[in-house]
Amino acid sequence: MPSWLKNPWWGLGLLIIGWWAVTYSFPGFYRIPLVTAILFTAITAIAFLLYYVYKDMSYCKYVCPIGSVTKAFGRISFTWLGSYKEDCSDCKSFDCAKACPYSLKPFTFDNKNSMEDCSLCMECSSACDAISFKIVKPSSSLYKKFKFDKIEVWTYILITAAISITMSFHHGLGRSMVAKEMPWNNTAEYFKSFIDFGSLDVVGLFAFLYAMIATLGLVYGGMYLASRALKAEFNKTFYTLGYAFAPLFIIGGLSHLLHGFFTSEYADIVNGFIYGFGLNIEEVKNLASKKDNWLIIFEAFKYIAAIWAFIIMYKRVNLFTASKYAKMIAFFFASFLILFYLYINLYRVYVVQTYGVPPHASHMHHK
Ligand code: SF4
Ligand code: SF4
Repeated sequence: MPSWLKNPWWGLGLLIIGWWAVTYSFPGFYRIPLVTAILFTAITAIAFLLYYVYKDMSYCKYVCPIGSVTKAFGRISFTWLGSYKEDCSDCKSFDCAKACPYSLKPFTFDNKNSMEDCSLCMECSSACDAISFKIVKPSSSLYKKFKFDKIEVWTYILITAAISITMSFHHGLGRSMVAKEMPWNNTAEYFKSFIDFGSLDVVGLFAFLYAMIATLGLVYGGMYLASRALKAEFNKTFYTLGYAFAPLFIIGGLSHLLHGFFTSEYADIVNGFIYGFGLNIEEVKNLASKKDNWLIIFEAFKYIAAIWAFIIMYKRVNLFTASKYAKMIAFFFASFLILFYLYINLYRVYVVQTYGVPPHASHMHHK
């Protein structure tokens, strides 16, 4: 693959701009069946083409928007693929590496403390018995030192902004009694007063932009102050501690995902199949109504995500050599994004408790 294309920023950029920015700005766009069909046909065609033209699953590693988050899931996962050192030390065949469609070297994973782009396809384990597959403490690889990978940290930061923070702005606070007071709403109203945006969801677009600005400001500001407290280089501080943000989108995002699955996506998917394949089966209904109180249990994922992120931050601050006091200060500054995430979620709870939910809130889901 040419070096200009062999860049994981393609996948991440496509995910943030091509998917999320469009989803917030034109909420109905990807729900038009023809658009979805064209999009996924194009993605599949490109994947097929690049798979045969370039080796090492380059498309999956560098271009595919989903591939860009594979590493992130590997970091939080409770499974670990490695190898038995005693068998590998005198190995001459390296069958595991030869079998890997991604050209990875699974016998190096334990030492590097990274599974790189491993998709757990298990081809290597069929090729050699010395491959080990273990259940480990979730995110335990993040408690140890390893060579940081900038794109991994940027994936956590940008997706946290695009999914977790924007959702909290636009869907969380945007469907509360204070929605009209929110800055992204006021900015949108201001621009709408003299520009005709047509079908563009200006509030959604500004919620996305404000979330990006807030996230980047908090991360940069917090990491700068943390690096001063630790007397460490900014880049080293930024990329060592930035790994702590991983749970915010992976675990925090589950809240919205599960809520959506139970209240609409389950029925959409099943009925889509029934309709698409002309099956002679009765249509299914949503698994839950948006008014069901029990759906509140999914909110717990947001708080689990924040607590988990604090634990990783604590462990990673301790990888630095500094006084206990300096580490405490650095922990506080570096956690600005986690604190903000917690704050906006708690603030929404406060708003709902104090002012109630607007009567039309349950109909405000993007369709
Ligand atoms: S996992 Fe098997 S093939 Fe790979 S280095 Fe170890 S012994 Fe060799
Ligand atoms: S599980 Fe698959 S992707 Fe991972 S190292 Fe083995 S062969 Fe490669």
